[in-house]
Amino acid sequence: MITRIIEESSLKTSRQWIEEATNIIIVTHISPDGDALGSSLGLRLFLRSLGKERVTVMVPNAASSAFRWMPGAETIVIHEEDHAYAAGMLAEADLIFCLDFNEPKRAGRLNQPLVEAEARKIMIDHHLDPAPFCGVTISHPTISSTSELVFRFMHGLGEMERIDEEIASCIYTGMMTDTGSFTYNSNQPEIYQIICELIRKGIDKDLIYRRVNQVYSENRLRLMGFVLYRKMRLYPRYKAALISLSKEELARFNYQVGDSEGFVNLPLSIENVEFCAFIREDNEHIKVSLRSVGDFPCNRFAARFFRGGGHKNASGGEYYGTLHRAIAQFERGL
Ligand code: 5GP
Ligand code: MN
Repeated sequence: MITRIIEESSLKTSRQWIEEATNIIIVTHISPDGDALGSSLGLRLFLRSLGKERVTVMVPNAASSAFRWMPGAETIVIHEEDHAYAAGMLAEADLIFCLDFNEPKRAGRLNQPLVEAEARKIMIDHHLDPAPFCGVTISHPTISSTSELVFRFMHGLGEMERIDEEIASCIYTGMMTDTGSFTYNSNQPEIYQIICELIRKGIDKDLIYRRVNQVYSENRLRLMGFVLYRKMRLYPRYKAALISLSKEELARFNYQVGDSEGFVNLPLSIENVEFCAFIREDNEHIKVSLRSVGDFPCNRFAARFFRGGGHKNASGGEYYGTLHRAIAQFERGL
């Protein structure tokens, strides 16, 4: 038995809004990860199976090529590549799903067109403190992925039989990536009941693991070697670690989007490291990723020092200034 955790009133309204919609857009957060894409692409196929012909997934910027294989990935509209076109589509939509983010700011430059769009909006998300910008807010911070919530949404609507192998693969991808392949945030027994259902739908979970985790370039592996050998700082007094990369260093390894995926977790494999940061110089700002094990709330650290947020053990933020100052800011926070 899978518990019905989504409120019946939210399901009822969502069902009615889906029935009445003819032009649906699914928006997810900036630098979309496996959960953002898995939940969005899975929901897209589900809505199509309900007879909805116009369903578009829209992202603020491109995702890592590790997700290119996902069903429907080729149909995704990337706002950064054509602002006017994407914003025009949002303005014309009659229903917008906001998946895997809790405030419009997380949609990057899609923020404004999203807020201004007159369409009905449904949020499905698992981050704390959802902002009140959607007519229906399905927010469950104790659930480890938005993809699991999308599964529960389909289950709650009584439409499990519409889940096919492709939808199931999308859902599984998000559940897997947001739990580090079920190594954190993954102690709830129902996760495994849901995986059972997805396997019954025909997914190849071993193949999905390989497609997501074993498709990197030589450059990425060499960059990882450089990072571990030369760029990792340890702060034993604070059980903390830091990795930083400048634009020049990234360029030296011909950095492509996604190449530093997972670097933030590397220092956590050292005994006695419980908190770590990865600080990367991007084009417009400095991107900060934080991870912890146990009780240390890195979302509070992110909010206090890097205008960010997220989950207790995985959060992020940004810094405007030099890389050097961002590092100093991190060290001050310890
Ligand atoms: P990552 O380090 O993988 O980019 O992000 C980890 C988690 O931190 C994300 O799932 C998201 O919840 C949160 N996060 C990352 N960057 C930001 C940010 O700039 N602002 C907020 N509020 N949360 C962020
Ligand atoms: Mn997520």
